[in-house]
Amino acid sequence: MTYDNQNIFAKIIRGEIPNNTVFEDDHVLCFDDVNPQMPVHCLVIPKGKYLSLTDFSENASDAEILAFYRAIGEIVNLKKLRQGYRAICNTDMHGGQEVPHFHMHILGGEKCPPMIVKNA
Ligand code: AMP
Repeated sequence: MTYDNQNIFAKIIRGEIPNNTVFEDDHVLCFDDVNPQMPVHCLVIPKGKYLSLTDFSENASDAEILAFYRAIGEIVNLKKLRQGYRAICNTDMHGGQEVPHFHMHILGGEKCPPMIVKNA
């Protein structure tokens, strides 16, 4: 699968679609999810063109990976998540990934429900 420059997060990075920015640096953008599932629900994305967590892990530079993980600490402070949160990366088809640009969901603001409910 090749990277689709028209995916919605690519448009957000280019400034073609507005977003509620939480954090930004040279490599990373974090913004509120448009359809929040918890009181805090934001998405952390690299600015580079990576399809998924797998693609990012295999192909991102050390600087990009470092920036991504350092950003999470900043976001935890900005969103006051010291009591905890859940980080989720839906990945590819089996993971139910809908937007084909790597993103990490950060969910919190109250106690998260059980992660996977069997036979629900
Ligand atoms: P996923 O199913 O892991 O690919 O999640 C995609 C997420 O992107 C969903 O939680 C959507 O609500 C969110 N989303 C889609 N479009 C936008 C947008 N324009 N701004 C913010 N979040 C968005």
